[in-house]
Amino acid sequence: MKRDKGLLIVLSGPSGVGKGTVCGALRKHDTHIRYSVSATTRNPREGEIDGVNYFFKSKEEFESMIENNELLEWAKYVDNYYGTPRKYVEETIAAGHDVILEIEVQGALQVKETFPEGVFIFLMPPSIKELRSRLEGRGTETQDLIDSRITVAKDEIELMDKYDYVVENDEVEAAVERIKSIVTAENCKKERL
Ligand code: 5GP
Repeated sequence: MKRDKGLLIVLSGPSGVGKGTVCGALRKHDTHIRYSVSATTRNPREGEIDGVNYFFKSKEEFESMIENNELLEWAKYVDNYYGTPRKYVEETIAAGHDVILEIEVQGALQVKETFPEGVFIFLMPPSIKELRSRLEGRGTETQDLIDSRITVAKDEIELMDKYDYVVENDEVEAAVERIKSIVTAENCKKERL
């Protein structure tokens, strides 16, 4: 059934919970979902490619994107800016494709204000202990940065009741199956016909 507008799917949750891994696996399974590439001022990690993983920007470039209203949402997260370029999301949804945003909680709540018809999914770690061990296992942050991310994560988990769905990421494939079921159900809602 062809719909006029695609779904805006917002996948959010604490850093280290596995949003990137789950999103990557979801995109392999469900190739019709389009992925929004965010802008950030943080430095690229090894192997990250500009325009694929992020659009890497200077602070000045990012601030001018804010001023020019080019971002659907943005947030300052552990000393760096992160934001969603508005144009890609609006055009892709208008063309009838579902789009997924993989963003932290402050940004997700901003999107909820402007796009209440979006589908808001909170990806939940099995425990804080497990979250810390995933962040440590990733080996991309210093211990101080991991501590900051854990502090933020605890505050983020308190906001999970603002979301439509909470999906535990105990195992990637299981989490992906749950998200696919949510997207299928949302696309079958009678309001979407
Ligand atoms: P990382 O530095 O690990 O790539 O990302 C840090 C946090 O920023 C993660 O929780 C990630 O999901 C979030 N993030 C990535 N892109 C965006 C974005 O466009 N907007 C917001 N608000 N958060 C983002």
